[in-house]
Amino acid sequence: MQTILLATRNQKKCAELQSILDAVEGQFCLLTVDAAPMSLPEVEEDGETFAENACKKAITLAAASGMLTLADDSGLCVDALDGAPGVRSARFAGEKSDDVANNALLLERLRDVEDRRAHFCCVLALAEPDGRCQTVSGVCKGTLRKEPSGTSGFGYDPLFVPDGFDCTFAELPQRDKHRISHRGHALQEALRVWVVNGTFQLY
Ligand code: IMP
Repeated sequence: MQTILLATRNQKKCAELQSILDAVEGQFCLLTVDAAPMSLPEVEEDGETFAENACKKAITLAAASGMLTLADDSGLCVDALDGAPGVRSARFAGEKSDDVANNALLLERLRDVEDRRAHFCCVLALAEPDGRCQTVSGVCKGTLRKEPSGTSGFGYDPLFVPDGFDCTFAELPQRDKHRISHRGHALQEALRVWVVNGTFQLY
């Protein structure tokens, strides 16, 4: 069994990635920052790109823990808003904002906008304690509804209709979402480039 530190405190994210890993060859155990046997620093996500944030988290926590560390950063990029909210997706409506406030602000910004195209992006970074770090990414393109629909998932899921579907991410069963999502695509790429003989390693 290979244990990998996952640079998040979000149990749901860990469970989601673990469930995808459980379906592939090899035995991996993802450990969140809270479950790690040592105390680890907070890492501020202050980068200008998803890759910058993912690498900062992976490198900092790999060095602090001495463990192989996987980090992700993701967000929604809206064409008509020049890529916003992007790396600020989680705090679009303010530092203490929640999903409801972020979705409301997005709808407000797009009120009279015809071009509803957007994409989710996810970058995964894998770092060794010595500072070596590599990234892979995944994208999911779609359009934004004029009002929220559906209750599953999180974030902007109730507004986002992936290309080729006529329902939102929040109306899709989670398993179907993971097959086509930015995070699902990034993880498939991660498995392709980093897993050799059932073990995660940098190439
Ligand atoms: P983080 O990668 O956990 O920092 O996520 C950043 C933010 O991007 C989240 O808080 C959501 O607002 C948004 N986001 C990222 N992935 C998704 C998704 O799969 N569905 C909906 N929103 C997402």
